[in-house]
Amino acid sequence: MGNPKAFLTIHRQEAGYRPVHDRIHDFGEVEQTLNEKDRRMQASRCMDCGVPFCHWACPLGNKAPEWNDALYRGDWELAYRLLNDTNDFPEFTGRICPALCEKACVLNLTDHEPTTNRENEAAITEHAYQEKYVRVNIPERNGRKVAVVGSGPSGLVAATRLNQMGYSVTVYDKNENPGGLLRYGIPNFKLNKAIIDRRIDILKQEGIVFRFGESINPAKLPDGFDAYVIATGTPTARDLNIPGRDLKGVHFALEMLSQQNRILDGAEYPKDQLVTAKGKNVLVIGGGDTGSDCIGTAHRQGCKSVTQIEIMPKPVEGPDDPKNPWPNWPRTLKTTSSHEEGCERRWNINSLRFIGKDGRLTGVEVQEISWKPNPDGGRPIMESAGKPEIIKAELVLLAMGFLKPEQPEFPDNVFIAGDAANGASLVVRAMASGKATALKVDEYLKGKC
Ligand SMILES: Cc1cc2nc3c(=O)[nH]c(=O)nc-3n(C[C@H](O)[C@H](O)[C@H](O)COP(=O)(O)OP(=O)(O)OC[C@H]3O[C@@H](n4cnc5c(N)ncnc54)[C@H](O)[C@@H]3O)c2cc1C
Ligand code: SF4
Repeated sequence: MGNPKAFLTIHRQEAGYRPVHDRIHDFGEVEQTLNEKDRRMQASRCMDCGVPFCHWACPLGNKAPEWNDALYRGDWELAYRLLNDTNDFPEFTGRICPALCEKACVLNLTDHEPTTNRENEAAITEHAYQEKYVRVNIPERNGRKVAVVGSGPSGLVAATRLNQMGYSVTVYDKNENPGGLLRYGIPNFKLNKAIIDRRIDILKQEGIVFRFGESINPAKLPDGFDAYVIATGTPTARDLNIPGRDLKGVHFALEMLSQQNRILDGAEYPKDQLVTAKGKNVLVIGGGDTGSDCIGTAHRQGCKSVTQIEIMPKPVEGPDDPKNPWPNWPRTLKTTSSHEEGCERRWNINSLRFIGKDGRLTGVEVQEISWKPNPDGGRPIMESAGKPEIIKAELVLLAMGFLKPEQPEFPDNVFIAGDAANGASLVVRAMASGKATALKVDEYLKGKC
């Protein structure tokens, strides 16, 4: 292991974000990096615990103590190999994983200064690309073919793993480019899309065939494959069907987010189809991560103001969550880089109706509510707790989550992965599901030999 006493003298150091006044004017990644010496010092803080809760907490089972030790010793290549063994795309999780492992770190229990696993992961991977030991590995073919429908993180991991096992893999996606929500959901200021392209180039060289712009009907899967992986995500966003929903200016979050990402990739839209926050008061309905991404995007588009409302109560302010103690994930108040850029946040707010003039949105009538415990033990009961009021807004973004898709009954050779199987979740969970699904496909096809 690294330095067994480093955690006693070296404090957790995060690379931090670029200053707000600088980052707010562009869509470049907001997160900075540490120099190599400081990064290795951070890796030295890992105690190589007898029971490493980080393994347990990471859905991919990443072995942080092992690669932290290699990093501390300066063996960057070994660190990458250990990391890449369990994690096919550490450049994605290193940027956008909420780092479930860090909350479960023993150093988080004792002094709330867990190891910086996520940042270490990103640093190891960037080093690997720079030093060119992220290598193309063309496997020997086993004569069997698998189709993967959907090129989000779950589909890409399933495709990568199956390809490396020797299957000839074709990935279909209805979009014009791969990545799913990595490309058409998550803003560039969290994940630069060149990072996706760089990995896809390798996957293509390794033999995976990509077919874009093809929407596959699950009831009519393409012929000629021995097995199929359905990794189509959660395409249906939760709607808010209150009066005025059809006013101009009320949009789903992804209408804005995916359009902005496409614009940054060179796409052009007629003015009447643009979903832009420029010069507008923006109201984001939904207090989660998608809502937070809308806030950061609205700032960069030049909004006048941005407010985020949430129907649920304000989460406890951390670091501890008494209802969900260590090593579980604490459901505490999260303040993202986008929140830091400026935003009014309100909780326990219900939306009553959208208000407009000449067909255009001008505001939203809302009301403060409170939640009463349900005597039957079910979902708490909502009660009015204040007078209706109007929040001025010319743009509303609905960020209230996604519906879990209902899948038809598929034949035995069809497997479902990622959000399509489990409902909207996290990139790391989608990747873990892609990995598990690849194993199931392999077991199934081996059984057929
Ligand atoms: C705005 C936003 C921000 C997020 N930020 C984070 C974050 O910071 N960190 C994090 O961990 N998670 C984040 N998430 C969640 C994360 O992006 C998802 O959990 C993850 O992308 C799910 O991966 P997936 O492969 O299952 O599906 P998706 O990424 O949704 O990919 C599904 C793919 O299937 C394709 N497809 C669908 N139907 C068809 C069809 N019929 N034919 C062909 N192709 C089809 C789609 O075009 C898409 O490319 C965010 C989600 C959103 C919406
Ligand atoms: S993928 Fe996420 S949970 Fe797993 S080790 Fe990396 S940062 Fe931690």
